[in-house]
Order: sequence, then structure tokens, then C-alpha cells
Amino acid sequence: MRELRMKSKGLLLVVSGPSGAGKGTICKALIEKNPNVVLSVSATTRAPRNGEIEGVSYYFKSEQQFKEMIANDELLEWAAFCSNYYGTPKKYVEKMLQEGKDVILEIDVQGALKVRSKYPEGIYIFILPPSMEELKSRITNRGTESQEVINERLNTARLEFTHINKYNYIIINDRLEDAVKDLEAIIIAEKCRIERSQEIIKEVCNI
Ligand code: ADP
Repeated sequence: MRELRMKSKGLLLVVSGPSGAGKGTICKALIEKNPNVVLSVSATTRAPRNGEIEGVSYYFKSEQQFKEMIANDELLEWAAFCSNYYGTPKKYVEKMLQEGKDVILEIDVQGALKVRSKYPEGIYIFILPPSMEELKSRITNRGTESQEVINERLNTARLEFTHINKYNYIIINDRLEDAVKDLEAIIIAEKCRIERSQEIIKEVCNI
């Protein structure tokens, strides 16, 4: 992807979709091809797993530190799962955007809606599987969840679909290469928007 308008602020890309739709796979492929795109690093109170690196996998925090971050409004959104807290620190996202990097937040629908209330200029993208059958078979083949958890994930997916019209774009993850191309096309089109091009217009057109 051509690195357009490097001088301007980066894009905030919020990516949601059912577990197993391929969010992680698509974002990883995009980042490998495009050094200007980075993943947001979340904060969590859960213990680091083997091989996880502070500041790369997560920012690991104590419960007290996390609560202080909430109180000081340092998180774009946060949620508690299985008695651990997870959230998106504003500071890292802001720093990357200021440096002109495009930042991906891979978060669930509830988190995305919270971010949207603070960052209406973000780009909200929903990743869909080609069908529910294919979603089920991808989660099953991934082999990381029990049958019970898979059924739970499919029910959550149906609930999340009810919010799909609050997003700006959907990407159907049928062939991976096509889904990555769609995501690149969205980024390119968004960078070409008049609203985001005022600086370059001033410079070139002298107005
Ligand atoms: P998510 O991050 O949305 O939970 P993953 O990226 O973990 O989903 O993908 C779920 C599974 O589906 C993984 O095993 C992944 O390799 C596979 N997968 C992702 N995209 C495709 C695709 N386009 N075609 C076939 N399998 C895919």
C-alpha cells in the first residue's frame, strides 16, 4: 500500500466481528505487508502467559493500577472478563496516531461502541464469515475452544450482528487475500477523503 499523506495523523481502525471470523488473521497479514499499520496494545490484570512480552503482548497491571487508570480516564474503553480487567490505554493509541501510524483496535462490539462515542472520526469495520456454517467450522478447526464455548461464541455472534449497522464497513472473510485487499482499499479510500486532506490541499493549491 502506498504510504499516503505521511504528514497527517494516522487512522484509528476499529475492527470487530465474531470470534473465528478471522480478525486476528486479517490484521496480522495487513501489518506484515504495511509497516505503517500497528496493533493497539491492551492493558490487562491477567497474569502474563509464557512468552508474552510487556508492552508488546499487553501492558500488565495490578488491579489497583488498573483501577487508577480507570479513575484517571486513561482508557478508551475497558471491560472485565473472567475476573480480569482488559482495556485500551489512550496514551499508546494517541502517540501512534500523532506519529502518523494507522492503529488497529481489535475489540468486541460493546468496546467498539464506547470508542465510537469518543472517536467518531475512527473507522468502524465489521468482519463477517461467509456463512455461519463456515464460522462454526473455522472455530472448530482452530481447536482452541471446547464445544460448549464454541456454542457460546456462536450465540454471542448472533447478538453482535444486531449492531452491525453502527459500523462503517463490512468485510466478508471468504478468501483471506481478498479480505486483506478490502481492508487496504478501505484505508486508502479513507486517506483520500477531502476531510482528511486539508493540509495537502493547502500546500499544493496554496489556498
Ligand atoms: P478471530 O481473530 O476473529 O477470532 P482468527 O483470526 O483466529 O479469528 O481465525 C479463526 C480461524 O479461521 C483460524 O484458525 C484461521 O486460521 C482461520 N481463517 C481465518 N481466515 C480464514 C479464511 N479466509 N479462510 C479460511 N480460514 C480462515
